[in-house]
Amino acid sequence: GGTLGVLGGGQLGQMFVHAAQAAGYRTVVLDPDASSPAGLVSHQHIRADYTDASALVQLSRACDAITTEFENVPATSLAALAKVRPVAPPAVAVSIAQNRAAEKVHFSHHGVPCAPFAVIDSADALAKVGPTLFPGILKTSRLGYDGKGQVSVARKDDLAAAWEQLGQVDCVLEQRLPLDFECSVIVARSADGSIVHLPVQRNLHHNGILAVTEVLPGGIAADVAEQAIDAACTIARATEYVGVLCVEFFVLEDGRLVANEMAPRPHNSGHYSQDACDLSQFDLQVRTLAGLPLVPPRQHSPAIMLNLLGDLWFAPDDAQGTTPTTPNWGAILALPGVHLHLYGKTQARRGRKMGHINITAREATQVLNTAREVAQILGLPADF
Ligand code: ATP
Ligand code: MG
Ligand code: MG
Repeated sequence: GGTLGVLGGGQLGQMFVHAAQAAGYRTVVLDPDASSPAGLVSHQHIRADYTDASALVQLSRACDAITTEFENVPATSLAALAKVRPVAPPAVAVSIAQNRAAEKVHFSHHGVPCAPFAVIDSADALAKVGPTLFPGILKTSRLGYDGKGQVSVARKDDLAAAWEQLGQVDCVLEQRLPLDFECSVIVARSADGSIVHLPVQRNLHHNGILAVTEVLPGGIAADVAEQAIDAACTIARATEYVGVLCVEFFVLEDGRLVANEMAPRPHNSGHYSQDACDLSQFDLQVRTLAGLPLVPPRQHSPAIMLNLLGDLWFAPDDAQGTTPTTPNWGAILALPGVHLHLYGKTQARRGRKMGHINITAREATQVLNTAREVAQILGLPADF
């Protein structure tokens, strides 16, 4: 027993709370939003800003250990909590993940290749960019997610306008790489240094947002998967990481593996582990935070995860989203191996993550067939 705290009240926090409660822990969530998904299901919900000093004191007093569920939690808050309670992940890893430039330097420093890039933090830096990074993608260094804060830049001549469009905040310009596919891997590291991983997952994005994750036998060549796992473990060890870490990779057309970014927390692409593995990424987060033993998770079923965005709640001809509807859950739940996860968000918005569906079966072909059927029923692209 004991009490585990989480900074942030989104769906990742909610699924952490569920896993912690299933393991017998009390939970406390710190989040300003009265109807945050994690706050709704937690034993205690402290409604305050992440920087509110008295709320942080209240959280630390109520908890034996504290984690986070989103990467933009102020490093100062983590540091303040870490003075009095175990905090995982460590503030240093979180602050690296908060800044794309620092992240890329960190990857390269530890021998993990990433896309060629330049930091754009001044008109001078912009002027000095050479021709090799084009066509490229300009990304804000901080606060981007789901492809937000990114602009495609075909030629150097377009760079100034793109930077303007992003508000001339600190950015990185990345070379656009020829991708064969994208994958990611979840690792968990405990305070004693032991480290385990989930199987590498293959990811499909639509409009910069994760849409589909596949974890099927033979889905990724063994040597590529091994490289991804090694790289993620190296990155975790490098910061004395404690907790769950996800590293996203590009597999290039020439077969090379390149790290894209990391998330110092469970990740959308790891949700399949809830129904396809004997330990989910949230179980691993609980174990690392509570100082429980880590054992290698075992995937017992091939799986596909489909993300459910708010768009599904709007009829295709209803661009404004004036008349939200509920998707036909009955029709998909009638199919064997369909696991529906909804986060209890009351307001559907286009592009907002409302839930996900994990599809499992004994055989990969059955998983694919059912996933395509689900996609057809819901009107999702079935391009997997
Ligand atoms: P997340 O929600 O995963 O945090 P993000 O907003 O941080 O996403 P990225 O992961 O950097 O954005 O990029 C989003 C997607 O855009 C990638 O998954 C990939 O499909 C595409 N992309 C990003 N950078 C590159 C690149 N250098 N070359 C080719 N495609 C890229
Ligand atoms: Mg990101
Ligand atoms: Mg990403």
